[in-house]
Amino acid sequence: MNEWITGPRDDAGERRRRVVAAALRAAYAWSVRGRFPTAMREVAMMTGVVMEAHGPGRGPVSPSALIDCLRDPLGELPTFAESGETEDSAVADAVLLDSHDRLTPDVHDLVCEYALPLAGTIEAEAWLPTWTRMHADHIRRQAFASLIETRSQDDYVASRKFLIDHPAGSREELAELVSTTGVRVVFRGYTEIPADQQYHATSDTAWWWPCPVCAWPLEVTGRTVRCRYRPHASVFRIVPGRSPRSRPGLTALDEGPRVARPEARPVNDAVCLDAGVWRFVVVPGAGELRLCRALEKQGAQVRMWPDLDSYDLHVLAGPDEFRIDMKEYRSVHRLIDDLRTKPPRARVLLPQTHEHQWDVVKAALPSLAITTETRFRTEVRRALKKGRAT
Ligand SMILES: [Zn+2]
Repeated sequence: MNEWITGPRDDAGERRRRVVAAALRAAYAWSVRGRFPTAMREVAMMTGVVMEAHGPGRGPVSPSALIDCLRDPLGELPTFAESGETEDSAVADAVLLDSHDRLTPDVHDLVCEYALPLAGTIEAEAWLPTWTRMHADHIRRQAFASLIETRSQDDYVASRKFLIDHPAGSREELAELVSTTGVRVVFRGYTEIPADQQYHATSDTAWWWPCPVCAWPLEVTGRTVRCRYRPHASVFRIVPGRSPRSRPGLTALDEGPRVARPEARPVNDAVCLDAGVWRFVVVPGAGELRLCRALEKQGAQVRMWPDLDSYDLHVLAGPDEFRIDMKEYRSVHRLIDDLRTKPPRARVLLPQTHEHQWDVVKAALPSLAITTETRFRTEVRRALKKGRAT
């Protein structure tokens, strides 16, 4: 019955992926059930997907039982508990709903790796954000559809960099940047700053802060602000302004590496990229651009996303040429699975924050060409030195 949901693969790993994808979608639907009357039907549909993946007599069998499970670590679901795959703790430890039935940051961390097109209610298409129901590749293709059509590599790179460098700002500022740089940006991609990313100093004065890493508006929870993508780890506390209308400040709460404290900006006419484009284009792009700029600083020549995104970076250093695909996954098992399903067209590079995954990936895929950011930068330094010596 579910062949059209299941697709060609149906092993334990793929069933687990469907469970996580449906759990993410049910959690989102539950968090907005007060606003959208069809949300409960969506939760029921996702319960069906979870039941089908688990098989008869296992796992939650009603929408309320599924919602209860979403308040506990996913690892307690039978698909994880019985698999013995405890090493994928990134996913097993994830909790999707907090005690107030709001989405937790785990949702935003995992969704990029797990979101799948599952069959749901037709009505839900109108209010379910794309990031809960589409493959990452699909969202990226959609964001750049008009650019890919023109087949112009320069336009494509300029416009993709633009989104990554300017994921939020005032309408006026963005419009001016678009006209001076000549990039093609679909303005539909920008929307008003969501309520949970605003700080209301008074009933009519609201502020937002750009993330120090990705520049998208930080999430505001009470007096605390941080990026929804947790590897962008800085956490700040809001210091209200001297008068109700003056600019509030931030103090750093974490002990991590010192980062510049972002400055509050008025919400007024500010806009930001849609959460899907942010999560699938800006978050990975911030890492890719950071690496590109670091390599250029070393003296290498770098081209981004060659051949309309065949891979991430083409690097020329002295006599050597490198092709690199950066992979920043929270779940190393999803990474391995994706690399198996779609072998990369370039050497895989794990960024500094994910270098610890190297051993596990190498053990699972011994013939895969894979490196870490630290090793690769040493390799580039040597190649540049070799170039200078000849
Ligand atoms: Zn961020």
